Amino acid sequence: MPATDAAPSLDAFRGEVRAFFSDQLPAALDGVTGSMARAKAWRAALFDAGLAAIDYPAEFGGRGLSPEYKAAFNEESRGLTPREDAVFGIGVGMAMPTIRDFATDELKERFLSPGLRGDDVWCQMYSEPGAGSDLAGLTTRADLDGDEWVVTGQKVWTSGAQHSQYAILLARTDFDAPKHRGVTMFVLPVEQDGVTVRPLVQMTGEAEFNEVFIDEARIPKSWVVGDVNGGWRTAVALLAHERVQTGVASVGGSGKQRSKAGRVPIPVSQLIELARERDRLDDPVMRHELARLYTGETIMGYFKHMGVHPSIGKLWRTIQGRAAADTAARLAFPASPAWADDGSKRGVDEDYFAYHILNCRGMSLGGGTDEIQRNTLGERVLGLPREPGPGKDTPFKELPRN
Ligand SMILES: Cc1cc2nc3c(=O)[nH]c(=O)nc-3n(C[C@H](O)[C@H](O)[C@H](O)COP(=O)(O)OP(=O)(O)OC[C@H]3O[C@@H](n4cnc5c(N)ncnc54)[C@H](O)[C@@H]3O)c2cc1C
Repeated sequence: MPATDAAPSLDAFRGEVRAFFSDQLPAALDGVTGSMARAKAWRAALFDAGLAAIDYPAEFGGRGLSPEYKAAFNEESRGLTPREDAVFGIGVGMAMPTIRDFATDELKERFLSPGLRGDDVWCQMYSEPGAGSDLAGLTTRADLDGDEWVVTGQKVWTSGAQHSQYAILLARTDFDAPKHRGVTMFVLPVEQDGVTVRPLVQMTGEAEFNEVFIDEARIPKSWVVGDVNGGWRTAVALLAHERVQTGVASVGGSGKQRSKAGRVPIPVSQLIELARERDRLDDPVMRHELARLYTGETIMGYFKHMGVHPSIGKLWRTIQGRAAADTAARLAFPASPAWADDGSKRGVDEDYFAYHILNCRGMSLGGGTDEIQRNTLGERVLGLPREPGPGKDTPFKELPRN
């Protein structure tokens, strides 16, 4: 839908969203099979309907509407977004807003529309074997060679790199500068000879993330997001989007959904259903646990509308997610928390709960560990003294490293 100058009324906009999900989307997905094909068909339909970039300027396919329209979209679409959309979490949720806010016009024109439409898939190359929580310790290097940056190093835990055309990459461009001041954010084309992506298999049996070996990969000189050596500022801005994305904003599953996608806490209504099936609803200990989880879920619901600090949302979600998975384990697999993958036929629900029990552990790492969220809250919200660390002015090359 072409962007128009006049904003629709909120009611008319809500009607548009409802019509999209009831009529346009089913038509767009009709006969489309395969996870990636369905993901792309969904995102393209959403973009073409003018609903994928509600708060982006019209020149990038956006509607230029105020946040209340985005909130209305979120309300109307709750529980209706196809699970395949998860592949765009990093691109649409983190990379695009960072490019919109910090990149040059050239990069905005080149990347925003296709990224928001789902034509390009993006990943985030931050973490390295020696730099996770201590992200500013990264050692992947980028050196300017004529009109190109040449990048060499290793990244790890890169979600979705195996499907991605582009990565938001952090690399060190000045080893003489202090830790936080010699880092630059780039757009790296993933599909090139210098980039090798190797999937890492998790305990669920899936390989969502990868290790990435970068050996003299090339990046055009102008594909820098923000300033050369000023990448820490843009890196932190992207992390703020990530914390919103992985915090309570992402919670919204209905009691009926049995989606394995994403890492959201099991809805309490599903645990109550499971307890009823297993004849445990009269067990006082189980009732206590369910009541505690219900309280947690209700509080998360309030958080969503209160605009709490993203680290509070992220921390709360991971605590709730682990507690819900532990309760599911006690209900679904009372004999043991482990089971044999002997090919015997399990019920769909057992499979679903087993997946959640294994997968929820990653919630407390991805997007920053629980300890790091607590440090952030202590230092930036409560104003406690910062963690002791090396001098802020010490050149990176002089710092001890593991
Ligand atoms: C599901 C999942 C998806 C991910 N996707 C991506 C991705 O797409 N791109 C990407 O770049 N990264 C990704 N990551 C990596 C993630 O950001 C890191 O795992 C995380 O930052 C922790 O880093 P680390 O694994 O190196 O652990 P470490 O930093 O080595 O931490 C080990 C332990 O020490 C604790 N610790 C470390 N420092 C402190 C401190 N200062 N105070 C208190 N405790 C501390 C940590 O809390 C943790 O318990 C993903 C991780 C997971 C699990």
